[in-house]
Amino acid sequence: MSENPSADPSHDPSHDPSASGTVYLIGAGPGDPDLLTVKAARLLSSADVIVYDRLVSDAVMDLVPSTAPRIYAGKASKNHSMPQPDINALLVTLAQEHKTVVRLKGGDPFIFGRGSEEAIHLAENDVAFQIVPGISAASGCSAYLGVPLTHRGLATGVRYVTGHTQEEELDLDWENLADPDTTLVVYMGLANLGAISDRLIAAGLSPDTPIAAVERGTTPQQRHCISTLKNAVVDVTKAELGPPCLIVIGKVASIAGTLQWWQPGD
Ligand code: SAH
Repeated sequence: MSENPSADPSHDPSHDPSASGTVYLIGAGPGDPDLLTVKAARLLSSADVIVYDRLVSDAVMDLVPSTAPRIYAGKASKNHSMPQPDINALLVTLAQEHKTVVRLKGGDPFIFGRGSEEAIHLAENDVAFQIVPGISAASGCSAYLGVPLTHRGLATGVRYVTGHTQEEELDLDWENLADPDTTLVVYMGLANLGAISDRLIAAGLSPDTPIAAVERGTTPQQRHCISTLKNAVVDVTKAELGPPCLIVIGKVASIAGTLQWWQPGD
């Protein structure tokens, strides 16, 4: 940066700290680029720099202008490629250098996406930011699989929980979650599927409760498995489902076959 920016006619105003840019925390949806919001697509096409996560699909990244540098901040479980404090600091630095900083996250930035942690850091550092919601894996996968998250007579509500914690033991309120009239959507639950099913059954949920597991939902690689709580681990293992995988537990999962409207690759 020039010592005296105003004396430099070629000075780029975006390098002036007083004219720092805006960080857009954008939800990229679960994979299908057609599920981006209009606002997300508009901002992507005008991005000066992109910081993106592992779960952002290649098809969405194809919409990023080739001129915008791409910084990978992705995380695979147990393999954090960039620690969260470094990502937070990076966003502040980039906002000092660029007008439109796009922070692109899979699904919705405020659902198990740490978008709020990054936004708090930006707010504390007086960096302008906007949140652009995205279609979360729960909405995208359930729609593309034909499993409604609520349905009259089958589910009066829906809860989103994480099936993965830093601690060894999953610390969830199993008694409360074992509700036959509510749909349970488990993010990051594949590795702990056995423990999750056992705990729910022990807490009183019927072993015959239907479950749907969806891998890479809304993408051409989408695969799924419909099973029951008691058979979930065997069936999901047999189907060789891998991450990212969303698990929907509840009577609504029994509708999957009836409402199957989408074929991967459509
Ligand atoms: N912010 C994201 C969730 C991030 S947590 C959202 O709103 O969707 C990561 C977890 O999301 C994955 O482990 C998986 O459980 C789920 N997930 C994200 N994209 C998915 C996809 N396309 N198909 C299935 N599960 C997905």
